[in-house]
Amino acid sequence: MTAGPDDIAASLWHATAKERFEAPAATGDITADLAIIGGGFLGLSTALHAAEAGLTTVLVEAGRIGDGASGRNGGLVVPSLPRVGPSQAIATLGDRGRHLVSLVAGGARGVFDLIAKHHIACDAFPSGWLHPAHAASLVPKLRARMEDWHAAGASVTWLEAAEARDRIGSRRFHGAMFDSTGGHLNPLAYARGLARAASTAGAQIHERSPARSVRRDKDQWLIETDAATIRAPLVIQATNAQMPDLRAGAKVRRSTVPLIVYQMATPVLPEAVRADLLPDRESLSDSRNNLFAVRWTADHRIVIGGMAPISQAAGTMRVPRRAVQRLNATFPQLSLDRMDYVWRARATLTGDFLPRLFQPAPGWLAPIACNGRGIVLTTLLGRALARFAIDGDEQALPLPMVAPKPIKAQALARLIPQLLLPLGMIADRRAESRQPERG
Ligand SMILES: Cc1cc2nc3c(=O)[nH]c(=O)nc-3n(C[C@H](O)[C@H](O)[C@H](O)COP(=O)(O)OP(=O)(O)OC[C@H]3O[C@@H](n4cnc5c(N)ncnc54)[C@H](O)[C@@H]3O)c2cc1C
Repeated sequence: MTAGPDDIAASLWHATAKERFEAPAATGDITADLAIIGGGFLGLSTALHAAEAGLTTVLVEAGRIGDGASGRNGGLVVPSLPRVGPSQAIATLGDRGRHLVSLVAGGARGVFDLIAKHHIACDAFPSGWLHPAHAASLVPKLRARMEDWHAAGASVTWLEAAEARDRIGSRRFHGAMFDSTGGHLNPLAYARGLARAASTAGAQIHERSPARSVRRDKDQWLIETDAATIRAPLVIQATNAQMPDLRAGAKVRRSTVPLIVYQMATPVLPEAVRADLLPDRESLSDSRNNLFAVRWTADHRIVIGGMAPISQAAGTMRVPRRAVQRLNATFPQLSLDRMDYVWRARATLTGDFLPRLFQPAPGWLAPIACNGRGIVLTTLLGRALARFAIDGDEQALPLPMVAPKPIKAQALARLIPQLLLPLGMIADRRAESRQPERG
């Protein structure tokens, strides 16, 4: 039986990950300085850095390490915030925004350095990240965004149309922002490698151990799984807003909006195409609302993302078909007729695309750093949270702690990404027919 798109075994990352990791379920009474719920990048990076600093750290994962968005994403290492420029982040968050922006601007180096330090075999490729304009009218806006990131310390330059087209191997783009520190990796292998490194540093990691409840017991938090009780003064819920069965956890979930995103991998592509299409192997995500995001893999395929504008049932058929059309239109040298791998995962969005550090109760943190672009931010936020677990210095965190604030009319809000996609696609086409505007 072939795996369906919700099964992680359907992903190329699962088929090709060189890192292996396995951990036993949690049992008995466990006491720790720090308890972490969730084995994605955020929980794992927090566990690694906390254990390295000498904290007794325990992490429980409901399924296997990397089962959430972390093991199924596109693997583009992007040192930038999704949709939000540095000035906007600083205007919204003040000094914390400055801290957040500097973390992200230099963040891809932090990810690749961590991979090198722990010898994580995740096909890491620090080849840079391209953010091209799909319409000439968007060039001034993108250039201004590039200058904004440059002023914030990012290693970004502007590529004029001719150079961008040569580097991408497509005539369809009109210039590009280029960050030389970005790149790509196999995300499932990265998650497993972080788990191995955390475990080596002394963190107790447990798979197949869903947290069933989190409650206060005197000055400790008490986390119950099916076969264990964990006590710790600080709990970090790194579940990407999941845990609907917990009252305070449900509040976190209702403060965000879920978005299903597909990932697809082409067949292995011939040498002639490899030499012509993104020959320097940068990762690429363009200026469209209906994002065009691609990268090469270590085994010479292209991975591309996509969203279903209508239902997920229809999406399983339509999204791969549409992805083949998009790739052939952008890179006519491809002549693709199918995808070899199709899988999907749930991203978590905040209303303004900025990350949040929710605090359901004192000593219980629930960060959300997804918004469809989180490899850099989750890794570095994990390091900052580990530091906070040690010194308790709230001011040193790159985000303010805030109470979860459920979005009104949640049922309707959850449909918003699906409803906005067709409108975004119309805006993408309009941008192509407009004259250049000032950003
Ligand atoms: C399809 C897709 C493509 C993406 N592409 C990119 C990309 O190319 N580049 C990029 O930078 N970002 C990308 N992202 C975003 C990135 O994947 C996320 O930002 C990041 O993985 C979030 O990590 P996390 O640790 O917060 O959450 P997750 O990785 O979702 O981890 C949460 C974990 O918590 C576990 N859990 C849930 N409930 C419980 C419980 N009760 N008890 C114990 N464990 C529990 C889950 O099983 C899961 O493993 C993409 C996201 C998606 C969905």
